Amino acid sequence: MKISGERELELLKKIGFTRVAGSEEEQKAAVLLQQECEKLGVSAEIEKFSIEDAVIERAEFQILEPFEKSYEVTGYKCAQNTFDRGVTVDFLYAENALEADLADARGKIVMVNGPLRLPLFRRLIDAGAAGIVTMEGDFRDKPEETDLSTRMLRRTLRAFGNVPIVHMRVKDAMELVAGGARRAKLVLKNTPLERTSRNVIATIPGTERSEEIISFGAHYDSVPYSTGVYDNGAGTVINLEVLRYFAENPPKRTVKFIWYGSEEIGLEGSWAYVKAHQEELKKHLLMINVDVGGPVLGADKASVTGVKELSEYMDYFMKIRGHRLKVSQGIISSDSIPFAASGVPAVNFDRDGAPGAACIHNRFDTLAFLSAAALEKTTKHVLDFGMEMVNAAVFPVKREIPENIVEEIDRYLYKKELSQIRSKE
Ligand SMILES: [Zn+2]
Repeated sequence: MKISGERELELLKKIGFTRVAGSEEEQKAAVLLQQECEKLGVSAEIEKFSIEDAVIERAEFQILEPFEKSYEVTGYKCAQNTFDRGVTVDFLYAENALEADLADARGKIVMVNGPLRLPLFRRLIDAGAAGIVTMEGDFRDKPEETDLSTRMLRRTLRAFGNVPIVHMRVKDAMELVAGGARRAKLVLKNTPLERTSRNVIATIPGTERSEEIISFGAHYDSVPYSTGVYDNGAGTVINLEVLRYFAENPPKRTVKFIWYGSEEIGLEGSWAYVKAHQEELKKHLLMINVDVGGPVLGADKASVTGVKELSEYMDYFMKIRGHRLKVSQGIISSDSIPFAASGVPAVNFDRDGAPGAACIHNRFDTLAFLSAAALEKTTKHVLDFGMEMVNAAVFPVKREIPENIVEEIDRYLYKKELSQIRSKE
């Protein structure tokens, strides 16, 4: 079988619609993937799981002194609601929220440069902020050409506190700071709810060592306003091309293809998978993940979330095969994390756009900067390495996550901070 970037690109056009976690469109994409597997003679199941979401009814932000102006904002889902009349208090721009910035933040609406990760959020909560404002974008943004994204205050952060939070454009934030904003009003009303998201799972049993599993993973959901073809329609179609190969050339070990839903809201699909398949997970030898691909201008890389020997071997292997990509040991923020956190080593493939040659997590993630040739290049890496592992006489990789990687994962998951909270309870 010859890998075809053109075929991948055609499929990418088919699934290149916005596929937000838990939405009808995400479900439509899941069914589409299931059908594509079945066309290749491999049955696929759709496995449901529930995710947290919220409906935002009101999100308003207004500067009251020394001038009066309302700004367009989006509300953080699952952030604390205000009363109907909102909170009207002093406003403070706290930059990166250093101790000195926050010395008199108590009871104020505090704007920060963001993004709102746990350490920053904790400092704001500890400082007694009455509300938080974050920002995104570029001061050159044209509102008619750009979107203000919707955010969620994730469970991990909520473990440390909750206040009303809204999100605004950098361009507007700049205006209000330059104008000396000192008093503001914030209104947030949102209703949390549960939605259903889906993983799509296809299995090709091994001909010799069917009890040993290697899985190929890619998330197929997108963020709002984005067609998510670069992130991660590309990985989605790359793995379907890999499936096509193994459907025609039965693998020695069992291969699983898992397309994860709801990655963009916190790796929810892969967490749901590892939770629901604890027994099966013992048989997983390796997880091969593909997240972002296809830009015409870019660079391929592979990150090995496993022992150093694997990353060294993989680097040699790729060089011997004449593949051009950088291989290193480390973690990336993607569906390989829940696997590695469960003891399953992982390898992540991606092709990142060159600076200025790709856009992610906004309406500019489109086919405009992707090509069949670039998709094909990454697919060859994934398939060539995948074949080597799947058909190895003896599987050589230790099922072990080394200490340095465990530490990186723990930091990523805020393990230490969360255990402090639990021990206080
Ligand atoms: Zn992604």
